[in-house]
Amino acid sequence: MNRAALHKISYGLYIVTSGQDGKFNGQIANSMFQVTSNPATVAISINKENYTHELIKLSRKFVVSILSEAAPMTFIGLFGFKSGRDVDKLKNVKTKTAVTGVPIVLENTVSYMEVEMEKELDCGTHTIFVGNIVDCDVVNDAEPMTYAYYQNVKGGKSSKNAPTYVKDEPSAAPHSAASYVCSVCGYVYDPDKGDPDNGVAPGTKFEDLPETWTCPVCGADKSKFEKE
Ligand code: FE
Repeated sequence: MNRAALHKISYGLYIVTSGQDGKFNGQIANSMFQVTSNPATVAISINKENYTHELIKLSRKFVVSILSEAAPMTFIGLFGFKSGRDVDKLKNVKTKTAVTGVPIVLENTVSYMEVEMEKELDCGTHTIFVGNIVDCDVVNDAEPMTYAYYQNVKGGKSSKNAPTYVKDEPSAAPHSAASYVCSVCGYVYDPDKGDPDNGVAPGTKFEDLPETWTCPVCGADKSKFEKE
């Protein structure tokens, strides 16, 4: 079996929020698709270990926000590499309350869908939640982020709870200078790409990054990075 075949599947990058009674959370998801048009129905695949999974089971409601290409890695890292059991991810993020009562993330969002869950399918490590859209809107005309853009342009990695995660994910191409990987979240600093979100120009070697530079995804300092 050549697992590289699976890497050809196209995905987007989304924030899924859920909850009720003052308990809310959001997480990054890449596996979401529209199932039917009438009624408008979507499906998402969520890891059973995630707090958002617990909240969807409980509330039977969720919101999908489609992220824009401009979404910075720190923002993606907040929702993708931290647990809502430890931090209130929505605390400093611009949201509005959905008709279902679930917070809609509006920051770095091009459009969103409010969903009432209808069915769930147990898939071992993950559950596929299927639901009807009760409301949706376009936030702006920015370009939606694809998973390929996240990986190839932003240098992003799969979280270990993503449906597409594989251990020791191979890096895309050989580099002229050494890449360094964050031992906390798996983010790879690629000197060819730099860290444009934080003013580091492409071509900047890891060794030349200022000591104040931190992982753009999880905030770990330079000492947490290891040569890839
Ligand atoms: Fe990190």
